[in-house]
Amino acid sequence: MNLQKGWNLKQSYTKLPDSFYTKTSPSEVEKPELVLYNEALAEKLGLNTEPDPAVFGGNAVPEGAEPIAQAYAGHQFGQFTMLGDGRAVLLGEQVTPEDERFDIQLKGSGRTPFSRGGDGRATLGPMLREHIISEAMHGLGIPTNRSLAVVTTGEYVQREDLLPGAVLTRVASSHLRIGTFQYAAGLQDHDQLKALADYAIKRHDPEILDSDQPYLTFFEKVIERQASLIAQWQLIGFIHGVMNTDNMTISGETIDYGPCAFMDTYNTKTVFSSIDRQGRYAYMNQPPIGAWNLARFAETLIPLFHENQEKAVEMAQEAHAKYEKYYHTYWLNGMRAKLGMVTEEAQDQPLIEDLLEIMEKNEADYTNTFRALTLGRPNETVLYGKPAFTNWYKQWQARLERQESSEADVHELMKKSNPSIIPRNHRVEEALEAAVEEGDFSVVKQLLSVLADPYAYSEEQEAYAELPEPSDQPYRTFCGT
Ligand code: AMP
Ligand code: MG
Ligand code: MG
Repeated sequence: MNLQKGWNLKQSYTKLPDSFYTKTSPSEVEKPELVLYNEALAEKLGLNTEPDPAVFGGNAVPEGAEPIAQAYAGHQFGQFTMLGDGRAVLLGEQVTPEDERFDIQLKGSGRTPFSRGGDGRATLGPMLREHIISEAMHGLGIPTNRSLAVVTTGEYVQREDLLPGAVLTRVASSHLRIGTFQYAAGLQDHDQLKALADYAIKRHDPEILDSDQPYLTFFEKVIERQASLIAQWQLIGFIHGVMNTDNMTISGETIDYGPCAFMDTYNTKTVFSSIDRQGRYAYMNQPPIGAWNLARFAETLIPLFHENQEKAVEMAQEAHAKYEKYYHTYWLNGMRAKLGMVTEEAQDQPLIEDLLEIMEKNEADYTNTFRALTLGRPNETVLYGKPAFTNWYKQWQARLERQESSEADVHELMKKSNPSIIPRNHRVEEALEAAVEEGDFSVVKQLLSVLADPYAYSEEQEAYAELPEPSDQPYRTFCGT
């Protein structure tokens, strides 16, 4: 038995060539105070000691840490740019009592050689927001990086106004991005590209190391993880908001919780991000943008697929074509589960699409429609009494009767597949306001506690399923503040 207590940090990334990172220490902050600490995650990481605010604020570096900023590039809204950790420092990889390995990264920890014009800092509201939404995603069962701690710095950060500074400790199965591979490809050095690919395979897909075509298989694994992830976003009504290639991970975890938000009313054109004026990353565009990003990923890997360039391109195209199929299968099966379908029928997809169309036309709430169907209370939706819905409902009931599962089993499957609550924008805003304006973190903590198990259908959750007051202003989110 492993009786590990406390930090057990390794640093494997520095074994890559120097061009992939820069040694950088977090900058000191005035007065680090721990405002949120994720006990459950700490335990999983084997951190059984009293949390030290100095470590989570960047004033003290834990034993074994070897802080670095990672280099990467990326397509931002379609434009290729050189990037890198401009306000984050990777302390190292915590090896857990279960022998899993997680990157431990401080976000908002000061300037690095990749900061460009930025100050390297982060503010309290957005760091709390990242903590809440990423933990909600974890509760929803969607692959995501997590947040271990939020620390206030006792300093103010200049944005449009002066805002309280904060540092968030991000935990991820790695921070390798499509953009990391774009950076490597830009080095135009076969050995360095291969070194990165080998590193990524060792970290995420060690079982394929000795296969015939490890790089092609690796590409297909990433395709499948991304297809599965984006299908889960669609199924839950999550809009990432900034699907730049530097924000798409190799691990298939959701990362970069800047402008993301959950949709209330079902509208496939929904965009929350204030800077996404063209709707590039709108809800309905997420699946095709996933394909676009993976095509950029393919371009970086082509030299590793085959010596013959033409042949290599062909292999890349053939593999890339699988994305759509993976995506569609994950999405369709996910939708079947949401509607309690345990068998597969040819007409399932049109039946599902009918419902979505009726929901969109009638501006139904996405989460609460599925919630009401799960609870057997269609009368609680705005669709009730509409002829199109009545007709759909009958067809759906008939569809469920054709499968040999009990009503109880169908109900259980639907409960597992449709959250009772999501982090609704008005609830998140209310919690942030109490914390940032009043220094009252109890609202955030209460929200985190109900979101820990969004499939509980507990009485306590009822109030969190309520819709916001109608507003004539659409909800807006902001990047990188
Ligand atoms: P994002 O839009 O969050 O994906 O960030 C894009 C790039 O901007 C990344 O390289 C970040 O490290 C960098 N960045 C964002 N905010 C800051 C900041 N305040 N200071 C320095 N770099 C930043
Ligand atoms: Mg980013
Ligand atoms: Mg960001």
